[in-house]
Amino acid sequence: MAVVGAGMSGLVAARHLRRRGVAVLVLESADRPGGRMLAETSVLGSRLDLGGQWVGHGHRRLEALAAELGTELYPMRTPGRPDFIDGSRLIPAAGPAVLTASAVLLAWEIRTRRPAPRRWEARTVAAWLGRVPGRRARRLLEVLLSVTSTADLDRYSMHALAEAVRYQGGLTAMTATRGGAQEKLIVEGAGTLTDRLAAEPGARVLTGHRVTRIRHDDDGVTLGTTSGTVRAARAIVTVPPPVSAGIAYDPPLPAARTALERNTYMGSVYKAIAVYERPWWRNRREHAEFMLLGRPGGAVFDTSPPDGPGHLCFLVAGPEARELDGLRAEDRRRTLLGPLAPHLGPEVLAPAGWHEKSWHLVEHVGGGYAALASPGATDGYFPMPSEPVGALHWAGTETAREHAGYIEGAIESGERAAREVLEGLARGAGGGGEV
Ligand SMILES: Cc1cc2nc3c(=O)[nH]c(=O)nc-3n(C[C@H](O)[C@H](O)[C@H](O)COP(=O)(O)OP(=O)(O)OC[C@H]3O[C@@H](n4cnc5c(N)ncnc54)[C@H](O)[C@@H]3O)c2cc1C
Repeated sequence: MAVVGAGMSGLVAARHLRRRGVAVLVLESADRPGGRMLAETSVLGSRLDLGGQWVGHGHRRLEALAAELGTELYPMRTPGRPDFIDGSRLIPAAGPAVLTASAVLLAWEIRTRRPAPRRWEARTVAAWLGRVPGRRARRLLEVLLSVTSTADLDRYSMHALAEAVRYQGGLTAMTATRGGAQEKLIVEGAGTLTDRLAAEPGARVLTGHRVTRIRHDDDGVTLGTTSGTVRAARAIVTVPPPVSAGIAYDPPLPAARTALERNTYMGSVYKAIAVYERPWWRNRREHAEFMLLGRPGGAVFDTSPPDGPGHLCFLVAGPEARELDGLRAEDRRRTLLGPLAPHLGPEVLAPAGWHEKSWHLVEHVGGGYAALASPGATDGYFPMPSEPVGALHWAGTETAREHAGYIEGAIESGERAAREVLEGLARGAGGGGEV
């Protein structure tokens, strides 16, 4: 058996198969496992995540895996609602911008309980936002929806957004910390989970092996990589559709699969963590959770580990994440930390450590948090199709029946694809593999 991609879904699929006695080789194009998960160690010794990090409410597979791999969870410290900073000023919570945006979100929350009308397929979120009254209310919604989805809002339909919200159980569930998608964190870093999975005894993960060609027939699969050829009975491809478009298939995949690759794109996202000796801001104010409405807009969270140093996490998404690419590292840092100084104090400008990553620039991943549907392309909605094509199976968070887009979805999809393979092997189909 071969697995393409050593992200969470590929590593889970390989482990599931290995535990049932199937020999598995994981081929990974990057020089490290983990894909969209990446933990680093700060100068102060704390662990932090530049990729996926939060354990959402009800993400039971992830919680179980974190416990099994010997890591510890801690609750997010959160006010429940962030403060909004425009330029350097705090916007009043009861002011017209916040009230208008809240009313729009409430109306949306109610509307998205029903299927979205088809006419929304041709209407972009950017066009819809243009009709919200008030510049600041519009901007607040723009930043919120951008950071939540990582979409280019002029390339994302109202229909796609509404269906994504419905699928995830509502906007509140998507954006909330307590009881929502950002409920807990992992002391050792979520990226430690993929590191530990790849290092387990018996795990065979070949990094630096990009799969460029896949020949598939009734007898099995031949994978051409940048370093040689691998023959397997079956293969699980865990690469998200817009990225797997770079693999040549022989015979070509069914038209629906090719259309899915063409009709989806990876979100753009920049993430940074500022590290301080301690979370000193907690002595001064109740919390350090903000939405920045200047340019770039973004979200700031206090992700400090318990009893550890202070961590402030920054997320900037969509076109504004790409705009940051043109700045020098110190200018990016100043641009993001500057608006916080009037509220947290000048100490915020001098972190002991600064870790950052622009995921849309990572060749092997293509962006994040996940793949998104282009306007009008309903095949790109969660869960994305994963119907096997002969001996080829599909996994990856985008294909998850539950919590697609999240680490939890990656785990679910890896387990599901492994079960499909076991059923296929039990039927005796695709028996000519060597790994
Ligand atoms: C900045 C950021 C923040 C996030 N925050 C959260 C969060 O807080 N909580 C949460 O639950 N989720 C979060 N996510 C999403 C989460 O990280 C992903 O859902 C999950 O990691 C996806 O795993 P995967 O295995 O499906 O895909 P990937 O991790 O993308 O794995 C696919 C692998 O395939 C490899 N690959 C690509 N092409 C080839 C090829 N041709 N040959 C061989 N290998 C190839 C890639 O290098 C990659 O390693 C975040 C993502 C990002 C980027």
